[in-house]
Amino acid sequence: MSNTNKSQYKKDEVFSEILVGYTEEMAINEAKRCLSCKTKPCMKGCPLSVDIPEFIKYIANGEFYKAYTKIREKNVMPAICGRVCNQKCQCEKNCVRGIKGQPITIGRLERFVADWVRENEKEEILKENKINKKVAIVGSGPSGLACAEHMIMYGYDVVIFEKSHFAGGVLMYGIPEFRLPKDIVFHQVKRLENMGVKIKTDVTIGKEYSIDDLLKDGFSAVYIATGAFVPRYMNIDGEDSIGVYQANDFLANVKVGNSCDIISQNDIVAVIGGGNVAMDVARTAKRMNASCVYVIYRRSEFYMPARREEIDGAKQDGVIFRFLENPKRIIKDEAGKVCEIECVNMEFEDTDCDGRRKVVEVKNSEHRIKVNKVIFAIGQYSNTFAIDNVDDIKTNDFGCIIVDENTNQTTKSGVFAGGDVVTGAATVALAVKAGKNAARHMDHYIKKLGN
Ligand code: FAD
Ligand code: SF4
Repeated sequence: MSNTNKSQYKKDEVFSEILVGYTEEMAINEAKRCLSCKTKPCMKGCPLSVDIPEFIKYIANGEFYKAYTKIREKNVMPAICGRVCNQKCQCEKNCVRGIKGQPITIGRLERFVADWVRENEKEEILKENKINKKVAIVGSGPSGLACAEHMIMYGYDVVIFEKSHFAGGVLMYGIPEFRLPKDIVFHQVKRLENMGVKIKTDVTIGKEYSIDDLLKDGFSAVYIATGAFVPRYMNIDGEDSIGVYQANDFLANVKVGNSCDIISQNDIVAVIGGGNVAMDVARTAKRMNASCVYVIYRRSEFYMPARREEIDGAKQDGVIFRFLENPKRIIKDEAGKVCEIECVNMEFEDTDCDGRRKVVEVKNSEHRIKVNKVIFAIGQYSNTFAIDNVDDIKTNDFGCIIVDENTNQTTKSGVFAGGDVVTGAATVALAVKAGKNAARHMDHYIKKLGN
């Protein structure tokens, strides 16, 4: 059984969700603004192809359960995607209402119906006839959970193996409470268990059992969804000092309530990186009462990969941005604790690097900043521990598992993979899409074998 004992999990008011949900009246009014465009341009922006105009029509009529069912035909995690999808670059980007004014808030409407169904306990769960075969899923992030839900609906017995203590992957241990309340993740997991999915937490595949053990143990197919939460290092001097953390360790520790000794009130924190993970770390450190939080990024604000709303949110939280600076080394005191970070200024060159203007160091611009905590958020690698000793599952030059683009099957028959472990760090919606696609092809594969 997975661990859904919420009392073990730290919750604090300062971490409360920032964006308040719609009331029924607000949702209906917002839905009525939808023009029901025949060509449905919004759908083209959604990785899961949710039939957006149709579900919005149901909301406008006050038929919230029907709206929910419509969304779930394509997306099994509306409460989560409605909160964390980058709607401004996806569904809402193409909304015709956005040409002259505000686009329809598709994500908030999706979240509203999912929350409404959860709060009113209205959901009916439909399953196909039972098939006497079992499948294994490695990893319980959004990709594993989505695959599990589709496989159990097809009628299979489903067992998820998860190395952490709680299921949910980055939804549980990465994205902070103030953006995605953990009650929502617990509910998603509990819902799957109620459908019959078995979740074995604290089990690491590649350690306790191998992929081959699972196949020998009678699992007809395996889905690997182990994510990309392995930190990248900068390999600079002083990275081993006391007070230096990796973003994922920091965020995971906050989740399980071990954060007290990481950040204290007088801390000056330097967060290195300019992506969404850096924003989550900086905003979390601010909520933990650090006296000052810097984000140090080697390019300018324009080139930050983080979402605009996250950057604005961090600014509102009081995070200080230091652009065009790059760390050279971390300086420690006699006790081995971080006391300063040495940075160098950066400037743009005219040449391009990955479609972005290249930055180079400004000579003799080394300077020191007083800090006593440094948190690196400069990217993650795919987590392939589960297949480290499996010769016939191949990875590419970036360390991601290679799969057939159509079926999500790896180079080993009967073993499928998807989500961040295949794409590298990506998005929740793409992870859900991969889990759903893999489930369809695992079903075909097992039925074709006929054993
Ligand atoms: P994960 O969520 O990483 O789950 C993998 C699971 O596999 C984990 O539970 C892990 O413990 C388990 N596992 C690993 N190895 C083993 C093993 N050997 N045996 C058993 N279990 C194993 N995306 C968005 O769309 N919106 C956002 O706002 C957003 N914010 C983010 C914030 C942070 C801090 C981070 C890190 C990512 C964010 N993302 C966001 C990206 C998104 O969360 C990921 O793309 C998504 O979670 C990938 O899902 P996954 O199921 O492939 O992997
Ligand atoms: Fe928009 Fe994400 Fe929902 Fe698709 S899944 S409609 S992109 S919020």
